[in-house]
This record gives sequence, C-alpha cells and structure tokens, in this order.
Amino acid sequence: MPTIRSLTAGALLVATTGTAGFAQSYATSDPVIRQIYTEGMNNSQAYKLSQILSDSIGPRLTGSPGIKRGNDWLVATYKSWGVEARNEQYGKWKGWRRGATHVDLLTPRVRTLEGTLLAWSAGTGGKDVTASTVILPQLVDSAALVAWLPQAKGKFVLVSMAQPTCRPDDNWRQFGDSVSFARMRAARDSATRAWNARVTATGYSVGLGTGTLGKRLQDGGAAGVIAGRWSNGWGVNKVFDSRTDKVPSIDLSCEDYGLVYRLTENKQGPTLRVRADAEFLGDLPVFNTIATIKGSQKPDEYVMLSAHFDSWDAGSGTTDNGTGTITMVEALRILKTVYPNPKRTIVVGHWSGEEQDLNGSRAFAADHPEIVKGLQALFNQDNGTGRIVNFSGSGFTTASGNLARWMSNIPAEMSRGINLSFPGSPAGGGSDNASFVCYGAPAFGLGATSWDYGTYTWHTNRDTFDKIVLDDLKNNATLTAMLVYLASEDPETLARDRRVFDQGPDRRPGPGFGGGGGGGGPQTWPACTEPLRDYSQYRR
Ligand SMILES: [Zn+2]
Repeated sequence: MPTIRSLTAGALLVATTGTAGFAQSYATSDPVIRQIYTEGMNNSQAYKLSQILSDSIGPRLTGSPGIKRGNDWLVATYKSWGVEARNEQYGKWKGWRRGATHVDLLTPRVRTLEGTLLAWSAGTGGKDVTASTVILPQLVDSAALVAWLPQAKGKFVLVSMAQPTCRPDDNWRQFGDSVSFARMRAARDSATRAWNARVTATGYSVGLGTGTLGKRLQDGGAAGVIAGRWSNGWGVNKVFDSRTDKVPSIDLSCEDYGLVYRLTENKQGPTLRVRADAEFLGDLPVFNTIATIKGSQKPDEYVMLSAHFDSWDAGSGTTDNGTGTITMVEALRILKTVYPNPKRTIVVGHWSGEEQDLNGSRAFAADHPEIVKGLQALFNQDNGTGRIVNFSGSGFTTASGNLARWMSNIPAEMSRGINLSFPGSPAGGGSDNASFVCYGAPAFGLGATSWDYGTYTWHTNRDTFDKIVLDDLKNNATLTAMLVYLASEDPETLARDRRVFDQGPDRRPGPGFGGGGGGGGPQTWPACTEPLRDYSQYRR
C-alpha cells in the first residue's frame, strides 16, 4: 500500500523537453497537453465568464430566481460552444426573491447601518418598520422565554453577542500589548460561552442566523430579529438564513451591531427603521446543470468535472463557488476546443443545494447509478480562488498510482507547488466529491491555497468579483482540463480498492491523513446520505 505522506509533484517529473519560446517546462511531448496549455493560458475566457457570473447574474441562493438565471446561462454558454447541456431537476425548494434592505438608526442620532436581510426571511411588506430595540435577556428556560415575550412585543430583538472588538486578531497581535491581547481574548471567550448558554437556555437555537429562536420571537410579537455573525476580519460577516416568515431577520455588521447593542444596553434609546423587500415565491423546482461530451471509445466510463453552483447571497458567491464553477466551465471549453472526441465520456456537474448539505450532487449520484458505476475519476473544486496546491488520493490505494502518473505529465510550473497525499483520506462531507466517494467511486478534491478564504470570502458579504486571482483561476482551469484529458485517456480504468483503516481505541491517524490541524481522518469509509429534495426537510 502506498503510504507516501506527501511529495512534491515536480519531483516526479522525469524529463523536461525542449520548450524554446514557452515559459513552462513540459514534462511530456504529448501535443494535446501543449494545446491545452496554450488554449487555457493564452486564450482564456476565465475573466469574461467570471465577470458575467459574479457581477451580472450575482449570487445564486438555492431556489431563487438568481440561480435559475444562472442555470439557464450555463446551458446557453455550453450550447454556444456546441456542447450538449441541460438543467436536470432533482427536487424543489423554497422560492424566495431578495429585494433591497435599508436599516437606519434614527435615535439617539442618525446613522445608516450596514444591514442585510437574512436569506428566506420575510421583508417588511413594502413599508418602513420603526421600533426600539431589546436584548435577549438571560432566562432560565423556555417557559421564562414565553413569560418574557410581552417585553419584546413590537421591538427589534438582538440575539447575538456584541463583539468586544471588530479588529481582527492579527491586528491585535501586531500592535497590541501582549497582556492586553490575552486579556481581550479571555474576556471574549468567556462572553461567547455565556452568550451561547443564554441562547441555549431559551430552548431554541439561532441556527445559522436567527433560527428557531427568531421564529419564536416573531410568533411572540417581535417587530424583527437582529443578529450579527462577525467573520473575524475587517468588514466581514457571514450571512446565512432565517426562519422568520412574517417579520425581518437582519444581519448587522460587527461595528453597527455593537453600536446598537451598546446603545440598548446603556438605555440610550436606540430606534431603528427597517425597510426590507423580499418575496416568497412558493416551492420552485431546483436543478443541477449537466453538460456532456460523449466518449468515443468508452462511452460508459465517465470523467467528471464538479463544482457547486449555488451560493449564499450577501455577496456575489464569487469564490464560493463562482471560481470553482468557472474552473470547470473554462476547462470544458478548453477540452471541447482541443480534445473534442474524448475516449471516455466527459460530464460536468454544476450542483445546486450544496450549501444546505450537498443536496444536488447527492441527488445526482442517487439518480445516476450508471455514472457512479462507470466513474473513472471526478475532480471537484470548492475552496476559493487560489492556485490548486493539494491533491489527495482520497483513500484509493491503487488509483493513487494513476494520479501520480497523471501529475507527472503536467508542466512543472503548474505541478511544482502541488502537495500530493497518497493514499489520502476519503472526503466525508465538506463538498460534492463526498457524494460520490461514499459509493466507493473515485472522486477527488482539488484544494486551493487559502487567500484567507475562511475569514474573508467564504459565506461572507465580501465574496465579490474583485477577490478573484485571475492567474490562479487560469492555472486551475488549465490544470483541470489536463487532468480530465489524462484520466480520459488512461489505458487503465481506475481500481477502487480502498485504504484499510486502523481499528481500536489507540487508533491514530496514519500516514496520508492530510490536512493537518490535529489529524483525525475518518475511521471507516463514509456512508452515503439521502439528499434533501424539499425545503420542508431542511432543519438547520
Ligand atoms: Zn462552497
């Protein structure tokens, strides 16, 4: 069993052929690899495609008119290149259209606040709602919450902790006195624990936004629910969803949430005016967009490109997962241009519902057992705009050897920064490759370098077009096209034998558990999960 923890792909390169006139060093004389490079790096459409997707179509919340517009654009784009494409319905979801949100502080002074309606929240019904504020108090249990509800009637209820500072920790680390920094962190940690206990005591949850607690406050007569989910960086909040279907649930920026909270806490008479437009559209069909180039020799074996298409919607969904999306669209354009008659069938899956638990890809895998059975390889990308630097065998022991051979054909400038982990560990969740790996089908994640994805763009209000690193995106699309080509042409069908997991209480992560951060990969192969095909099944 290969147990090489990691090696630099460049080390596998056996020869560098003469490449006068090119910046890159080809590892192979294969003319298709050269043509893919030229098409991807010199004729790239990545900028144009990304700009349309991010700026004009914008965010793509599952079940929204925005994602349907995006699905239709994908199909039209593929068809304009002569690629067969379709929208495949897998279920339905709560239809909801976001309108404009305006939040103003009126007293004790006027300030326009940075506020966003949470997804799937009611708006204010075409009117301004002006009300005072109240902080969720410490209560002993859900009966105490019910007894307290009259005091929330007609008010905006604040359900998040106010951050002691909206400066990121690295700013404190750079400029702060070390004792001050430690004191702030300790105070923040205990305040966070106390606030979480305060929410838990109500018997309800704020979920990702205002949750079941927000719904209960609404039903008790609150005018609206205000939350603030700071993302630990300058100007960034993570903005998710709510369950309030009659009153608005609003996310305020770290600074503005803190302002309103302190004014309330100090009895300085804050009044907010909220005007939020939103429209419930009933249940709407939800789709995966699927594009196909049929294989000429092994049409029943499949090489898949995979990236979820849906997003949260406070930003433009650019790095989560517009860049993964454009990586796959552009890779397919390159392949259609230079490799129009693939040996195996090439399929692109643009999944919906990933953000609500991989629903689109899970449904596709469940609905297409023939593709799962015939899957040669799937390449998924879903962690931001950065250059692909991590590639794991996903727990497939023999197939790891095929991956190493493919990588040895990639030009050195693209492969030398890539950390290969063999055999690696199977993805148990996190993104859509997991929906195929659980069947034992060879599905691989292409891991990007961070660019502070987790803090600054992932699920935030700042996930916008300007965050794209175009050179990295071009590199990723070109690399993906090469991997798909190499997987399609491989004389071998990938073996599906899996790594053996150590058993017992003393089990420690063995070699190949990549990712760092304390280790601890799965102890068994991950099991498949039923997709949610209806919003009513969504409990988060
Ligand atoms: Zn994502």
